Amino acid sequence: MDKNKKLSNLKKLVLKLNKNFPGKNLVFSDGNKDAKVMIVGEAPGLTEDKIQKPFVGRAGKLLDSLLETIQLDRSKVYITNVVNYRPEKNRKPTPEEINEFKKLLFKHIEIIKPKCILLLGATAATAVLNHIGPLSEVRGKWNNIKIINSYFDILTTFHPAFLLRQPAQKKSSIEDLLEFKRKLSS
Ligand code: URA
Repeated sequence: MDKNKKLSNLKKLVLKLNKNFPGKNLVFSDGNKDAKVMIVGEAPGLTEDKIQKPFVGRAGKLLDSLLETIQLDRSKVYITNVVNYRPEKNRKPTPEEINEFKKLLFKHIEIIKPKCILLLGATAATAVLNHIGPLSEVRGKWNNIKIINSYFDILTTFHPAFLLRQPAQKKSSIEDLLEFKRKLSS
């Protein structure tokens, strides 16, 4: 089965997970399905729900400018979120929601088969690395883990919405991205 068909089958499964998100739109992904880079955020916000694309609001603009520092843009990355609907009032996804959506996120990763994965923030680290606890324990570090049948190189960094609140941390996030670029080009 080709990638487009697999992605449209996956989308149908994600569409069935909308019960906790009345009236919200599916925000599935953006970017290039054949990219070497896959980026995973938390959940859509207001602008993402409206436009039905991930990371198109303020945090998204910051993400784009961070990616530019390592010569990446949306033609060279594939972007999704752990949860594909906007949680009411932008609340954090619950552990139950993370567990439910992560099964489909894993299928998503298996379909895209990126060379490297960038996790943005604690929700993505919880879903993909099973990490519970401060982000500082995993931020800036590589993990090589098996997802379904293949191993993936995965780096965790700050969520851009956090960087909007704590701009002093941008320096560390650029260091993470340079490290990401190093492995990507190796
Ligand atoms: N924050 C996220 O985690 N994802 C988006 O798509 C937008 C903001």
